Amino acid sequence: MDCIFCKIISGEKKGRKIYEDELVYAFEDINPQAPVHILLVPKKHIPTLLDLKEKDKELMGHLYMIANRLAKERGVADRGFRTLINCNPESGQTVYHIHLHLLGGRMMHWPPG
Ligand code: AMP
Ligand code: ZN
Repeated sequence: MDCIFCKIISGEKKGRKIYEDELVYAFEDINPQAPVHILLVPKKHIPTLLDLKEKDKELMGHLYMIANRLAKERGVADRGFRTLINCNPESGQTVYHIHLHLLGGRMMHWPPG
């Protein structure tokens, strides 16, 4: 499968790894949109949020708990940060392996662009 995030997870392509466990992999976004911009991905290839199944509930909960931990470790927890998952073209999704963006370290705007 030609998936850039699967290649980063397997080590075939180099990524700036931040965290890894049996289910989840987290790395620095290559084109950061904030001082902290981490991508958290399940190791399992799931293309979009719409492809999640009932059995993935625990996995996605775990992903958010790692986001919680990394936000604290990177010092953005108290000042605030944003997590988001883009889904399909109008959201701006460009990589079709589900990923949670963790953005922080600057003032965020609302509504998002
Ligand atoms: P999205 O637009 O939600 O699909 O987000 C894809 C994100 O992946 C973008 O923020 C890209 O900068 C990031 N990205 C693409 N290729 C790489 C890569 N090789 N390593 C790290 N981040 C990447
Ligand atoms: Zn993948």
